[in-house]
Amino acid sequence: MRIILLGPPGSGKGTQAQLLVQRYGIVQLSTGEMLRAAVAAGTPVGLKAKEIMASGGLVPDDVVVGIISDRIEQPDAKHGFILDGFPRTVPQAEALDELLKHKHMKLDAVIELRVNESALLSRVETRVAQMRERGEEVRLDDTPEVLTKRLASYRSQTEPLIHYYSERRKLSTIDGMMAIDEVTRAIHRQLLALGAVEPKTHGKTRARSAAKAAPAKKAAKRAKAARKPAKAAQKAAKPAKSAKKTVKGAKKAAKKAAKKAAKKVAKKTAKKAVKKSAKKAAKKVTKKRAKR
Ligand code: ADP
Repeated sequence: MRIILLGPPGSGKGTQAQLLVQRYGIVQLSTGEMLRAAVAAGTPVGLKAKEIMASGGLVPDDVVVGIISDRIEQPDAKHGFILDGFPRTVPQAEALDELLKHKHMKLDAVIELRVNESALLSRVETRVAQMRERGEEVRLDDTPEVLTKRLASYRSQTEPLIHYYSERRKLSTIDGMMAIDEVTRAIHRQLLALGAVEPKTHGKTRARSAAKAAPAKKAAKRAKAARKPAKAAQKAAKPAKSAKKTVKGAKKAAKKAAKKAAKKVAKKTAKKAVKKSAKKAAKKVTKKRAKR
């Protein structure tokens, strides 16, 4: 899955990109982060970008296109990526189209995070305060003055991309003013609707489900092993079954014996009864005879 996150500074691109990385197992390619790393490392690109970034301007297109071109070739980007902060100008978008075409890669979606401009300044202020709390180094361009300039360059140079991608039927606009997890859910729904993620794998990409196939095999093995003791238990249950059978047999035999005994008793009593009645009858006859 390959997606672009579009939105002004403070719209939540970085936050959402990280959440999407966790959910889909793809990589986040942030030109801002890469440029900051280059500045920190003092590379030729970093030296070129340092002043421009600090003042809120945009680094030349060829520089960022070069960085992205190298980065999407890396093995970790094979299963997909989220572009955060790139493209930022129409020439960058055109260069990306060419790059992807050349590499036979398809872009799944461009997600625009739409926010009220009035919320942006306070969001960036919150970010600065949180970074300070964590003891992290605060970005040089996260000041109200530079933010105003960054916003201005977003409006003039990046906003035209909304039209660019909407014309190519790639654009999905999400309300970036919602809570963080609601925005994530809305993005997920959009990706589902576009067929960029599979519903069966609970939002995991094909690559992710393939990676999960190995644990699935392991689980099957474990289940097989678990069935073994079950078989043993079945075997153990067999004697119990035969014991049941024996008890049943014994019961039957006892019943039979009881019947036989009852028959015997009945026969005896019947014989006795016959004898008694015969005696009685004989007595009656003798009595009658005596009367005569
Ligand atoms: P933001 O929070 O303003 O979106 P980023 O971290 O994406 O910030 O970028 C910080 C700075 O890095 C930008 O103001 C710009 O100077 C530079 N930069 C990042 N991406 C690009 C790009 N695609 N093209 C030109 N400059 C860029």
